[in-house]
Amino acid sequence: MMRLPPFSYLAPRRLDDAVRLLADHGPDAMVVAGGTDLFPNMKRGQMAPRVLVALRGLPELTAIRGTARAGLAIGAGATLAAVAEHPEVVAGYAALARAAGVVSTPQLRNMGTLGGNVCVDTRCNYYNQSYEWRRAIGFCLKKDGDICLVAPGSRRCWAVSSSDTAPVLWALGAEVTLAGPRGERRVPMPALYRDDGIAYLGKAPDEIVTELRLPPVDGWRATYWKLRRRGAFDFPVLGVAAAVRLEAGICREARVVLGAVASAPREAPDAARALVGERLTPEVIARAADAAARPAKPLDNTDLVYHYRKRMTRVYVGRALRELAGLPIDGLWPPGMSGAGEGPRPPAPARDRTD
Ligand SMILES: Cc1cc2nc3c(=O)[nH]c(=O)nc-3n(C[C@H](O)[C@H](O)[C@H](O)COP(=O)(O)OP(=O)(O)OC[C@H]3O[C@@H](n4cnc5c(N)ncnc54)[C@H](O)[C@@H]3O)c2cc1C
Ligand code: SF4
Repeated sequence: MMRLPPFSYLAPRRLDDAVRLLADHGPDAMVVAGGTDLFPNMKRGQMAPRVLVALRGLPELTAIRGTARAGLAIGAGATLAAVAEHPEVVAGYAALARAAGVVSTPQLRNMGTLGGNVCVDTRCNYYNQSYEWRRAIGFCLKKDGDICLVAPGSRRCWAVSSSDTAPVLWALGAEVTLAGPRGERRVPMPALYRDDGIAYLGKAPDEIVTELRLPPVDGWRATYWKLRRRGAFDFPVLGVAAAVRLEAGICREARVVLGAVASAPREAPDAARALVGERLTPEVIARAADAAARPAKPLDNTDLVYHYRKRMTRVYVGRALRELAGLPIDGLWPPGMSGAGEGPRPPAPARDRTD
């Protein structure tokens, strides 16, 4: 059985106390929200904070305020279940409700928070293993070692950004509010990330994510498609967030953001350019899907073979855009991988039918 290492658990009741405690303990401390990512990581020896500053006792972090018309502010401590079910999120930001609703299992969504999800650790087959497993094959750069086992010639870590909600929040144009010892600041979603498997967050370690702010819906519509092996609870091995603003059937603005293809969510600007000024016809969508697949460079360090994941980028971007265009969603589920995707289920392939 894997046990948690010893640590001190501090439970502030006010945000400014949490900020002060985190600053006072410096690199020894981390914040913990739902603990659904951090505690398993600590059990596997991937992280060893001596002090945890808990965010659970901060009521100001759990509120969801505003409307889809005026914009919504979601407290970082709101659980994924609360986000997925909130009427204003469901009505105005259905892509976010879907992404939050396909994270892991109901139990973890009841504990896990939106703030924890956007800050969730990057993942790699050589890292998300027990301490003994990692010691047996030799430690890697991300923890305790000095080489990358996936790309031994590389001086950086390629662990994969695996948040479901981050690509959607990015595509929706969300902003992140951070509170730290130097005060409060608000940054766009892209500024929260760095394409580095170890230092994957663009915020300072002593800053706490307090809120995710969504702009007014203002004619945008968005969706999220997730590829994973088991529909019941796996992390994404590909996430596709697509958002478009249509006027009289013409796409005026677009954003396509890929998850789980790099150490940070990755925007596909060429795909957006292929959509803007056009009607979302099957041909335009096919061109955009081709363009979106180009920046996806998955490596052999998560589930499913990487060239398959790369190929599926084009397929999933195409399906996401067809959904937004109201077109029938073509393509079959990958053979032998039922439950490998999320989103509205396309018609079952004829050969799978029993009638
Ligand atoms: C079996 C299993 C399956 C999972 N499947 C998925 C999945 O499909 N998709 C997915 O996205 N995730 C998945 N997860 C990971 C995790 O459950 C979720 O990402 C969850 O949302 C994390 O939130 P949390 O509140 O529990 O974060 P915690 O575990 O408390 O924290 C995670 C990280 O974020 C930091 N942090 C937390 N809150 C803040 C904050 N407000 N400000 C600054 N830093 C903060 C912590 O210090 C820590 O580094 C899975 C986990 C498990 C164990
Ligand atoms: S990508 Fe390389 S350095 Fe990063 S966790 Fe995997 S093996 Fe380790």
